[in-house]
Amino acid sequence: MIKYLSWCCLLTCLLSCAEDQNTQNTKANAIAAAEHKIAEKIEIPAVKKEIPIDFIMGKFNPEKESQFVEIALQYASARGMYMQREAYDAFVKMAESAKKDKVSLKVVSAARNFFRQKSIWEAKWNGRTKVGGKDLSKSVPVPKSRALKILEYSSMPGTSRHHWGTDIDINNLNNSYFAKGQGLKEYEWLTTHAASFGFCQPYTPINAERPKGYFEEKWHWSYMPLSKPLTDAAEARLRNEMIQGFDGSETAVEIDVVKHFVLGINGACRH
Ligand SMILES: [Zn+2]
Repeated sequence: MIKYLSWCCLLTCLLSCAEDQNTQNTKANAIAAAEHKIAEKIEIPAVKKEIPIDFIMGKFNPEKESQFVEIALQYASARGMYMQREAYDAFVKMAESAKKDKVSLKVVSAARNFFRQKSIWEAKWNGRTKVGGKDLSKSVPVPKSRALKILEYSSMPGTSRHHWGTDIDINNLNNSYFAKGQGLKEYEWLTTHAASFGFCQPYTPINAERPKGYFEEKWHWSYMPLSKPLTDAAEARLRNEMIQGFDGSETAVEIDVVKHFVLGINGACRH
């Protein structure tokens, strides 16, 4: 009898344990599914909050980051240029589509980190690179004025959209190239079709809508699905006082670089 009871208890226990286990598994699966659903919904804001300020400011090496890929030579003017993979995939689709319309799109500049931008900026600041044919270290001695002259077309290190691997320069770095002939055809193709691949032109002409910021750049295109959250993160967290570590950086606060240059972009690239 004792033996029977103990077997009975054991059997009952096993059955109820199995039942408990099944119930627990079902509950766990339901919770996991719900969490997954919630996680999917809040993924972008969560990622935005977690974007390190060093990423926003380009203080990393793109070639060492897993989400960056080197642009194949058929889509680039030279080797050694990197983009974020998702932006690159979108660019390849856009370039292939353009090719069908006899328009060739090649990247001439892509991800540039803080240190690359620092060398570009300081070469202009110190006169090694001429700006408009002039050595700015001699022709524009006032720091704020010199910085504003360079800021017509070049970003301060730590504030460039090229840091992010989402923005590229296409085909040529002169607006005049895009004013006629093949260049005009390329620009018209981009203004008509780029948006359907996720790209927009952040630096449109300076006018009432965009009163301050870099001058127009018909060659610079930004992959919005990735760059918009980064622009939002820059607005939330990047401050003029953080812009340091290069010659002329002391002018960043006075110029209000974040407001007028980082955020002074074509409204269509922000919404
Ligand atoms: Zn550019």
